[in-house]
Amino acid sequence: MSAQTGKRVQPRDDLRALEGYHSPQVDVDVRLNTNESPYAPPAEFVERYVAALGEVGWHRYPDRGAHELRTTLGAFLGQPPERLLCANGSNEVLQTLLLTYGGSGRRALMFEPTYALHGQIARTTATEVVTGERAADYAIDVDAAAELMRGAEPSIVFVCSPNNPTGTVESRETVEQLLAIATETGSLLVVDEAYGEFAPWSAIELVSEDQPLVVVRTYSKVWSLAAVRLGFAVAPEWVIAELEKVLLPYTLSVPTQVAGTVALEFRAQMEQRVAALVEERGRLFVALSEMPGLEVVPSGANFLLVRVAGDAHDLWQRLLARGVLVRDFSSWPRVEGCLRITVGTPAENEAFLGAIGDVLPEVVS
Ligand code: PMP
Repeated sequence: MSAQTGKRVQPRDDLRALEGYHSPQVDVDVRLNTNESPYAPPAEFVERYVAALGEVGWHRYPDRGAHELRTTLGAFLGQPPERLLCANGSNEVLQTLLLTYGGSGRRALMFEPTYALHGQIARTTATEVVTGERAADYAIDVDAAAELMRGAEPSIVFVCSPNNPTGTVESRETVEQLLAIATETGSLLVVDEAYGEFAPWSAIELVSEDQPLVVVRTYSKVWSLAAVRLGFAVAPEWVIAELEKVLLPYTLSVPTQVAGTVALEFRAQMEQRVAALVEERGRLFVALSEMPGLEVVPSGANFLLVRVAGDAHDLWQRLLARGVLVRDFSSWPRVEGCLRITVGTPAENEAFLGAIGDVLPEVVS
């Protein structure tokens, strides 16, 4: 194809310097890099789902309000359907929040290191990013947060709990304190609970009509449905009503809505998978903590962040050479020298522990 002559159209000035989101996908035996569930959903789910797809009226648009999904999910969560918004993955929920409450002339506050898409989507929606620093244990320092919230007056404050990539769970007290400040300063507190089911408590229990709180969750992790792309927000009705104005009409396909509804029939299996992963997380934590040259961050998620006393990128490469892919955070600000390991099946975790046990002495000084 020949290059275009004349004047090439340019993206928005503020987007030109933006880099896309990168998470390398490599075809290896043991993939522990993107925090998915290592378990497929139950075979009965697939059977029920495929049967339900046979009933779909393919020539018609989906139900815009995803009423059946929201009613079933609401009953599952103990929330009225009016407090739910569903979209294509929690990333689309986050984008809808930023399109609605962020934008030009507005600010979003986030506490680094945290999930890269909070900053990325803020930028693509022309929302200014305000960065707070986490404490040494990666928890949010409420006093420092309060100062930033009062000073910068962000319209959105992101709290990722459990936090990606550290696994840190914020206490209920911290979230309540931040919520009180958000109420005072007129901000929306968005608690990203993509890994919420692995943690000991959930901010969903704090959602009420008189609090500016949104909790964001996903089917990608515990429901073993990353391929489907389904996420949701739990928020006061007045927030959901605003988000619904911004979400594209018919954005959630019928197959996605059906998958989300049918999945909920398999709650017991989901809880078993979560329990198995939490147990494996504990086993990995102990095994890695005992290895000289590794420091493991306590995690309430389905992954562990480890700091390597040596060249972490070199370690990442040596693991890859042995067919084990983990996430390389070695050159990320604030988590320099760190790798993030998604908890896999016991066999995958064994393979990882074997590989790291072999190559670690070659990299730690
Ligand atoms: N939030 C956090 C903290 C995440 O780690 C992820 C996935 N990596 C997401 C949101 C997005 O998940 P999804 O779009 O698959 O629901």
